[in-house]
Amino acid sequence: MSKNNIPGRIKLLRDSVALRIAAGEVIDRPFSVVRELLDNSIDAGSTNIDLYIDEGGIANIRIVDNGHGMSREDLEICYLPYSTSKIDTMEDLDQLSTLGFRGEALSSIAACSKLEITSKVKNKHPNNIIIHSSKCLSISESGGTDGTVIDVSDLFYSIPARKKFLKRASAETTGCKKLFLEKALPFPEISFKFFSDKKLKMFLPASSLKDRIVTAYPDVFSKKLLHGISSNFKDYKIKIIAGDPALHRTDRRYIQIFLNKRKINEFAFVQAVEYGYSEFLPGGNYPVAFLFIDVDPSLVDFNIHPAKKEVRFRNLQEIHRSIVDTIKSFLSTFEYNYTKSISNNEPSRDFTGFTEMLKEKDTVYQHSTVEREGTRELYKSINTVNKTYFPVDKFKTLNEPTVVSNPGNSNNKIIYMGQLFNLFLLTAIDDIFYFIDQHAAHEKILFNEFKSKNRKTQELLIPYLFELNDEKEKLFITDLKEYNYLGFSFESLGNNNWQLLEVPVYSIGKEEIIVNFVQSQKGRLADLETELYANMACKSAIKDGDIIDNITAIELIEKTLNLQNARCPHGRPVWFQVSVEELFHFLVRL
Ligand code: ADP
Ligand code: MG
Repeated sequence: MSKNNIPGRIKLLRDSVALRIAAGEVIDRPFSVVRELLDNSIDAGSTNIDLYIDEGGIANIRIVDNGHGMSREDLEICYLPYSTSKIDTMEDLDQLSTLGFRGEALSSIAACSKLEITSKVKNKHPNNIIIHSSKCLSISESGGTDGTVIDVSDLFYSIPARKKFLKRASAETTGCKKLFLEKALPFPEISFKFFSDKKLKMFLPASSLKDRIVTAYPDVFSKKLLHGISSNFKDYKIKIIAGDPALHRTDRRYIQIFLNKRKINEFAFVQAVEYGYSEFLPGGNYPVAFLFIDVDPSLVDFNIHPAKKEVRFRNLQEIHRSIVDTIKSFLSTFEYNYTKSISNNEPSRDFTGFTEMLKEKDTVYQHSTVEREGTRELYKSINTVNKTYFPVDKFKTLNEPTVVSNPGNSNNKIIYMGQLFNLFLLTAIDDIFYFIDQHAAHEKILFNEFKSKNRKTQELLIPYLFELNDEKEKLFITDLKEYNYLGFSFESLGNNNWQLLEVPVYSIGKEEIIVNFVQSQKGRLADLETELYANMACKSAIKDGDIIDNITAIELIEKTLNLQNARCPHGRPVWFQVSVEELFHFLVRL
């Protein structure tokens, strides 16, 4: 608009203005330069890439690679808009195997900085080109080794408005380092170095994927607690460096998703990882998982976001399911063991003899005479134990210990010692003592039962009526198909009134729980089934504070100790276990 609000005549922007506006799309801060330069060096087939930044990249960003380099002819045009060696036609976009393809990075960088490139193709002379604000100042033969060195100085000197928005050097450094890691993680076969203000800050030698992650976050992960999982599907492959459930965190920082070696923000996949772990972590905690998906390039479109952070998928739902399944099936074979997580490096006493002796002498367990002895005496008596096994003082009021065989392993006897605080079932097997959380244990058992039951359904004699507000009704309607699939049928009566008509046989009598679940839905849940079963299991399970008779308790213990994954559907451990060995260690420290 002109000054007096009369629209001016349309005119074409001068190239230099247009270029700078376009540059702003791609180059936003120093880390955007870092991103584009790293992409190019990786695309050039480098095996060694060194990145240097000064003053957060504002003063200078330099990248040195040993890739295939550029010829003099390439150098002459590489900084012009739409110059790329990576695609020719639209069809090439479907076969893309490079990180770059739009041919706009170097031209954008050239428009907003002072750019100098020295490059050498094998068996040819190296050349150097200097470009300031999109203008070539010189091009000449130079010295240099195979590969490319790029210097980007004085960022945004030609766009003062943008320069004002730069943060302090330290903040920009952090941004550059974060990007450096994002780029380096999916390429463990390439060696990377990162220097800031002339100091080496990170060295990531060529290694395996798992080692790359451990080296990239040296203070965070130990290799022992990361596991590599992979599964292949028709159009895609999934590789996960999955954290041990013991590594859980209170934020999502270490749930990272890479698609075709680019880090992406795809919340559906972050959620898939969370669902995969949900039964194995305490509520409110997030897992550690680095997810690398390789999809046939024709099934994804990266060309919808300037920084390629968002992607369109043709088979998002399917990949989502595969991620959940891959993680779940891995974790279900994974025996989470408390003793492992609390073990320390102290040299341990050898208790094997003691344990063996206990195993041999069933009498030791079967009818323990409760004798009060001081802990010191107990400790001293270790080498002379023969007839008595000492439950500590508090157990005196409990039931006579009950012995049953453990169905999972008929050699082991379960000794049930009673209920403690109406919360825990105290149990011993061999030299392990278990505090079983009665509610969590029952909840998990019911959950497994619900999940394994077949989908036979039954009509309710009397339909269960309920009401939903507008917002909840909308959500509910989008979920209806999934409910139907699970065996629940509903009918709308108009005016936000509904009735539940049919349910799977295992949930007869639980209509109220089901309807409460429907009414309390907060958002669409990808794993409705798991949530619903968890909810039903939780509501139907024995509660904390319930008094349990011996027969029920033993039945519950047997089932609990045969659980594959001893965590309730919300991730709470079902029992706490402590071995004789640990108890003695504990006493020795007193
Ligand atoms: P794109 O990566 O989308 O092709 P760029 O503007 O990032 O576009 O780069 C333009 C071209 O310059 C690339 O296609 C590539 O041929 C060449 N190039 C850039 N950086 C390098 C490098 N480090 N080594 C070899 N060639 C490079
Ligand atoms: Mg590029």
